[in-house]
Amino acid sequence: MKKKLFIPGPVEVSADVYTAMSSPMIGHRMPEYAELHKSVTTQLQTLLHTQEPVFLSTSSAFGIMEGAVRNLVQKRCANFANGAFSTKWHDVTQRCGIEADLFSAEWGQPVTPGMVDKALSSGKYDAMTMVHNETSTGVMSPLASIAEVMKKYPEVSFIVDTVSSMSAVPIDFSTLGMDACLAGVQKAFGLPPGLAVCAVSRKALEKAKTTPNRGYYFDFEEFEKNDLKHNTPSTPCISLIYGMDAQLKKMFSEGLQKRYERHARMAGMTREWARKHGFELFAAEGYASMTLTSVRNTRGLDLEGIKKTVGERGYAMDNGYGKIKNETFRIPHMADMQPADLEEYFVVLDELMPPVEK
Ligand SMILES: *Cc1c(COP(=O)(O)O)cnc(C)c1O
Repeated sequence: MKKKLFIPGPVEVSADVYTAMSSPMIGHRMPEYAELHKSVTTQLQTLLHTQEPVFLSTSSAFGIMEGAVRNLVQKRCANFANGAFSTKWHDVTQRCGIEADLFSAEWGQPVTPGMVDKALSSGKYDAMTMVHNETSTGVMSPLASIAEVMKKYPEVSFIVDTVSSMSAVPIDFSTLGMDACLAGVQKAFGLPPGLAVCAVSRKALEKAKTTPNRGYYFDFEEFEKNDLKHNTPSTPCISLIYGMDAQLKKMFSEGLQKRYERHARMAGMTREWARKHGFELFAAEGYASMTLTSVRNTRGLDLEGIKKTVGERGYAMDNGYGKIKNETFRIPHMADMQPADLEEYFVVLDELMPPVEK
């Protein structure tokens, strides 16, 4: 049975995207591909408010996350973490043989400007990584105030994972002064997995050219050389790129502001649902994500059992990620999801975890 996905990625994919993805195949060195590539990267630049290049990587997010540190760390990397994905990025950095230190906030808490400032003031680092929206905990860190701190450290590459926030909340790549901002497409973008996008500043591109051992597949210089011709270093996932083109056009016709408001509205509905059902949010006050809500299982419910029943009703439920599995559960509200979809899901959940107040 096909279950309707209420997990924070992969998410439901709309029929029009599948239609676009079944466009007849073209060769990536044909002019037709250059046209498609240009259309997608130009729209991504508009989305991110930047004139800097946006690369298309045929990989999941972790591919380009690995690529970003291999290209942009020459000395030592400060990895800021507050959940599973950001902690994993530190592991990935070290596995690439790169010197790195981990600075962790408690899960549920954001990465703060203060912790970034304190770590970078040591002068030991030439790059930092962080996850804007920690999908494991439902916490959105304050990107704008961290970006303010980063202005004090122009020599430190500012590398941000926005996998579950890009296109759901405004991200002004250039105003924020980011050096690399990346996302996989199976979360906030609402596409099937297999493509990642990464905006890279020209300053970071110049630096990358002098970084040794950056490999081939994720080499920013290769990406740039090819992108100038509206192309990619190796054969890209052309079908997904057709899907992305359709999805971006749909976003602009919905209107970005409306899209952001739809996410905020669904976040509000979900937080209200959690409260009415006697739950607390896992995220610290003021830092709850716009694209998913992590609910603390304060009622001590049997989430494995509930998930199984919800599954039998035709819905894929999430019962937490990593070390907070079953202590929390996550309700996504991203991509093409509409308030009506959430309401439909709440009806199912209501029966298995009844509200505590009317
Ligand atoms: C899902 C996710 C990733 C990893 O993405 P993959 O597509 O599995 O490589 C990284 N960061 C965040 C914040 C995520 O939500």
